[in-house]
This record gives sequence, C-alpha cells and structure tokens, in this order.
Amino acid sequence: MRRIVWQIRQPPRIRFGRGSAERLDVPDGCLVVTSGGARGRGWLEYAGLGDLPVFDRVEPNPSMETAEGILAEFGDGISCVVGIGGGSSMDVAKYCAFKAGWKKIMVPTTFGSGSEVTRISVLKVDGKKRSFHDDGIFADEAVVDPAFIDGADMEVVKNSAIDACAQCTEAYDSTIASPYARFMCDAAFCMLEGGILGMDRDRIAMGSMLDGLGFGNASTTLGHALSYVYSNEGAPHGRALASTTAVAHRFNGSRYAARFSRLVDRLGFEGVRLKQDRGEAADTIMEDRKHLDRNPVPVSRDDVVRLLEEVDGA
Ligand SMILES: [Zn+2]
Repeated sequence: MRRIVWQIRQPPRIRFGRGSAERLDVPDGCLVVTSGGARGRGWLEYAGLGDLPVFDRVEPNPSMETAEGILAEFGDGISCVVGIGGGSSMDVAKYCAFKAGWKKIMVPTTFGSGSEVTRISVLKVDGKKRSFHDDGIFADEAVVDPAFIDGADMEVVKNSAIDACAQCTEAYDSTIASPYARFMCDAAFCMLEGGILGMDRDRIAMGSMLDGLGFGNASTTLGHALSYVYSNEGAPHGRALASTTAVAHRFNGSRYAARFSRLVDRLGFEGVRLKQDRGEAADTIMEDRKHLDRNPVPVSRDDVVRLLEEVDGA
C-alpha cells in the first residue's frame, strides 16, 4: 500500500466570535494596513486602532507596487502589522510583513477570501493577478469578528460568500485534499449553505473561516482556473465564479454541483461573457497548471473551449 503523508497548516492562533476584535490588544510598533473605507465605517475605532500609524490606500485587486510602497514608507520602527479589511487589505498586509519579517495580525471585515487563515497572498504583477504561497505568509493571529458583517453591503456579502462556496467545494474535490482538508471543506460548505439559504450572516462569517482552513490545506481547481480570464476583463471574482465553478462542477461530476447551483440561484448573479476569443482564453487557461493539475478530472484544451462556451451561454 502507498503511504500517504499529509499535514495541517494554519495560523497558530485563531480567535472567533462577536466582540473578538473590539479594542484589540496589539504590541508596540504596529502599523495598520487597510482600505479607504476603514475610517468612515468606524472599523479602526471599534478595534481600538485609531491612534496607530495607518496606511489606508489598499485598492481592490492590489498591486505589488502598493506593497512595495508601504515597505518604503513605513520600514523604520515597525515590527507588527494589523491587516484589517477585505481580502485585498489582508493580502497586502501579509505580503509586506512576510518580506519585512514583521508579526501579523489579520482582522477580516468581509467574509469569503479566507485570507486571514491562509498562506496565500494575491497581488497584481504587471497587471496580472499572481498568487504567492509560503508558510511565512501565515498570520500569527487571525481575529474573526462577525460584527463586521452587520453593516456590509449585500453585493459584497454575496460576492464573498459565493467565492467561499467555490473555494471549499473545488478544494474538496482537488487531488491533493487530505482527510482534514475534506472535513473542513465540507463543514465550511454546510455552514455557508445554511447561512446563505437562511440569510444568517454569522453563519456566513464562520463558514468563510472554515473555508479558509479547508481550501488553504488543499487547492482550488478548474472553476477558479476558468474564472481568471473573466476577472482579467473586469468581472468581479465572485460573479465570475458563480458561472465558472457551476460549469466546472458539472464537468467534474462533483457531489456539490446541484447544491452550488442552488446557492448561485438564491443569491442571484448576472452571467458573464468573454470579450476575447475563446481559443485565446483557452490557451491562457491551459498554462494554469497549478489549478488544472489538481482538478479531479483531466482537462484538455478542447474541453476548456467547450466549458467557456457553456459559461458564456453560447
Ligand atoms: Zn476565490
């Protein structure tokens, strides 16, 4: 019998619950990294971070230049970063701290990326999204407080929630999923499904954290591979996945195919349509071995063209 060795990788400390991020106890030398909306929404005051140095110009789909700019501007005297915001803010914060050797505390305010508990940071390099993977990118502490979801815009909630659903179901099916990853991914999906069908925001927040622990120990696959050509043309990540992961799950014969599509219908997503030629897009997608090699079913270029037709409703 082949011996199978697997491991569990996650941040050393995760705090979850309403009020967990209220008046955070942070060490000296902390820099706060966030997006423009942080002050207006009262996040910094709630978390007791109002008096700390702040970089609050993280943009959606942030670039490597943003991370490098922070390192150049705040290098001296900083030994810890608090990343507070959506996946973009946390990805920039984690990457800066990884490069500079700072301690990392991550506080998500939108729920879906799972970035607070993953070893992944996604940044744009030369205009294209690139994901960096390293154990050094893990937060030292993730503080997940569902209170942040109360005031969140429904558009943000639904895009993040469907991303989390796509991540955990793709990862469950991935060829590298360990028993632990499958366990967490299934628990995440059940929690998210209940949260979405019952519009229970606390369950969505918890499902999103479980999703990060699950897919962070495995990998997303075909649904995500198909989505990036749409995202690079401007479609929001969640909206692209609502179509691409549904189509990919049917192709893979995933056990989650029907349940995922039901959630897409419940949340109500507009479809996506490719602007570029499908053959060209298929060539780009075929280069994405990181996702395709972990798909449970082998995928050919012809398959990809057909799947793109299906996504486009052609
Ligand atoms: Zn995703």
